[in-house]
Amino acid sequence: MTSYRYLIVGGGMTADAAAKAIREADPKGNIGIISSDPHPPYARPPLSKALWKGESEDTIWKHTETAGAELQLGRRATAIDPRKKTVTDNRGNTVVYEKLLLATGGTPRRLPLQTDQIIYYRTYDDYRRLRALAEQKLKFLVLGGGFIGSEVGAALRMVGRDVTMLIPEDGIGARVFPADLSQFLVDYYREQGVDVRTGEGLATLTPSAGKVIVKTTKGAEIPVDVIVAGLGIQPNVDLAEQAGVHAENGILVDELLRTNVPDIYAAGDVANFYNPQLGTRIRVEHEDNANSMGAAAGRSMAGTGTPYTHLPFFYSDLFQLGYEAVGELDPRLQTESEWKEPFREGVVYYHKDGRVRGVLLWNTWGQVDHARALIGTAGHLVAG
Ligand SMILES: Cc1cc2nc3c(=O)[nH]c(=O)nc-3n(C[C@H](O)[C@H](O)[C@H](O)COP(=O)(O)OP(=O)(O)OC[C@H]3O[C@@H](n4cnc5c(N)ncnc54)[C@H](O)[C@@H]3O)c2cc1C
Repeated sequence: MTSYRYLIVGGGMTADAAAKAIREADPKGNIGIISSDPHPPYARPPLSKALWKGESEDTIWKHTETAGAELQLGRRATAIDPRKKTVTDNRGNTVVYEKLLLATGGTPRRLPLQTDQIIYYRTYDDYRRLRALAEQKLKFLVLGGGFIGSEVGAALRMVGRDVTMLIPEDGIGARVFPADLSQFLVDYYREQGVDVRTGEGLATLTPSAGKVIVKTTKGAEIPVDVIVAGLGIQPNVDLAEQAGVHAENGILVDELLRTNVPDIYAAGDVANFYNPQLGTRIRVEHEDNANSMGAAAGRSMAGTGTPYTHLPFFYSDLFQLGYEAVGELDPRLQTESEWKEPFREGVVYYHKDGRVRGVLLWNTWGQVDHARALIGTAGHLVAG
């Protein structure tokens, strides 16, 4: 039976960062990665941004093999036996671990209708499929105005496609941005030629003559060829729970990213951790967290860990606009905007009880560390 000093379940950015950190801390211990994705680890953010602006697909690969990790691709781990310290996959192979990292990420929420005309945009294969479809003059409908919906809507439009966005909320990014900015984005997307329908959700989907008829909650009927759904993800906790690992909105970890089960760790999109700066537990679905937390978990597994106290930043690109942000971006908090140019360049602060909880750096670059230092204080980035 194959035996690994370090075994990682999941083959995303968290797994990659963990494998590289393990190798730095322990040059000898063997590392195995079991991943249900048929491709080796790659960066996901370019799949909805840079690749649509002409960047080469070659740039996405993380080259995890440089850490000497053995990749077992296209295999799903189906069971963990924490007593025997083994993991079994869907092909019936069982491997032994000394230290196990769960970096299983999340699965997109799905709609009830089973049709392959809906793409739940998450993987490199999803990108390739959508890219091939976007070569044809088809009609695209994007469901949701969150991170994935807003980026994919822009990407499809940038390559000249006919795009409708169906957004149940009142604006684009309405769960993150203050209402005025979210409304500005609706107008901005419309100027770019996207048909944005806000306050309007999906009622039914009916396949018809090769198309799908989308009926909206306002009664409109829109025939489309392809639907891209950006409905958020759910953390993949089943495997962990079956092994007795505690989960509650993600796998619960301590400051060294250990779960309640000895020698089992978790990190990345799937992990729920305490952040001392915010004074609360959070689960973060962003690249900086995948990279930083993955590396921290790797060090922890190799015995050189220190508490994970990092407050991750996140970012996005929307046509020619872009932002970086840190902390809690919840428009239900008190917000204060300082625009150099309205909605084009500025900073938005999110306050609670007189303290900064989050900072949005809108087309404002190189300020993430300053913004992070403000979290929990009463301070401002820009005087005035
Ligand atoms: C299109 C897209 C664009 C994004 N853009 C940005 C951005 O601009 N900025 C930003 O900060 N973040 C962005 N993100 C989010 C960021 O990519 C994620 O936070 C990051 O990928 C999380 O990495 P992860 O390794 O924790 O999880 P995942 O990337 O979900 O990887 C989990 C891996 O586990 C595998 N797996 C799951 N269960 C099993 C199992 N039982 N057995 C074996 N393998 C399993 C999956 O196949 C997958 O390979 C984007 C995400 C997407 C999808």
